[in-house]
Amino acid sequence: MSIKLNNKKSVTIFLLGGTIAMEKTLHSKGVVPKITAKELCSSIPELEKIAHITTRTDRMIASSNLTYKDALWLASEITLLAKEGRMDGAVIIQGTDTLEEMAFILDSLLKVCIPIVVTGAMRSPHMAGADGSANILAAVSAASSQKISRQGAVVVMNDDIHAARYVRKAHTGSVSAFKSFNGGILGRIIEGQLTMFSAVKAREILSLNAEYKFPKIALIKASFGDDDQMIKIIAKADYDGIVIEAFGAGHLPETWLHSITQLSGKMPVVLSSRAGEGAIFESTYGYAGAEIDLISRGLIPSGILDGLKAKILLGLLIAENKAVTSEEITAYFKNI
Ligand code: ASP
Repeated sequence: MSIKLNNKKSVTIFLLGGTIAMEKTLHSKGVVPKITAKELCSSIPELEKIAHITTRTDRMIASSNLTYKDALWLASEITLLAKEGRMDGAVIIQGTDTLEEMAFILDSLLKVCIPIVVTGAMRSPHMAGADGSANILAAVSAASSQKISRQGAVVVMNDDIHAARYVRKAHTGSVSAFKSFNGGILGRIIEGQLTMFSAVKAREILSLNAEYKFPKIALIKASFGDDDQMIKIIAKADYDGIVIEAFGAGHLPETWLHSITQLSGKMPVVLSSRAGEGAIFESTYGYAGAEIDLISRGLIPSGILDGLKAKILLGLLIAENKAVTSEEITAYFKNI
């Protein structure tokens, strides 16, 4: 059981690396991951007033180097500690470049009823106005609150609480880089307290198996004047599925129709949008290559999920052999 003195919650911090833990070394031209979780937290004395903190430095890498193996391992580790009652909340700290993907994987796989909070920083600790300490403090406040224990994984950045299914990094350098598309933010840390504005609907959580060999899913974006060469290349390669960020509400050029129909006979083809916000339509446009035509050819509408998240959900469904037909896969996408 977690130790509870003064009603404080026990929060475990899992550090994977990222800008938040970066500094220049004698040998590096720029900042590199180096600072441990313990060192990061020792510069934030307020943390111990909020919760009993356990720090772990599990990885020390840029988030572009994180893999599904890392994510599945982390999900198993969190599940184990939560089930054994050894923590009341988890804070995962990593680089912001792939933070939305980690949050969505955890959201898809964690069946635990404790707050799961992912955070990072846009500025490294030695920069003026570094945001890492404030983000860790806000993340620990959120992870100590039962208000988000049934909201799946959330991202806390710049005091905003984002649902994993909506959040996206939308700026390369701003401290307010993270935005919630389609749903808006769930809440905000105000004077150290978590204030909720809305909630997400419960979704089906997939089974977690740390030994999964993650399938190979291609993610491509349609662009003006494209031919179907990429589709033909993917058909010949060893992919298990593909996500296409199509035009607008789910539209592709007519010249793709032959190869895309053949491809959807071979593997699941998910139709998402490159537009950035909104859902894939299902019943509005009637021309060849529009959503009605593409869905009738077996393409799977991704609902509100963008390409990055659609790729993760499709991969997890294939990995656990959960949904096989396009109708079954479509049902999972509709459930988000
Ligand atoms: N390149 C860094 C990373 O994702 C960026 C960051 O942490 O903000 O590891």
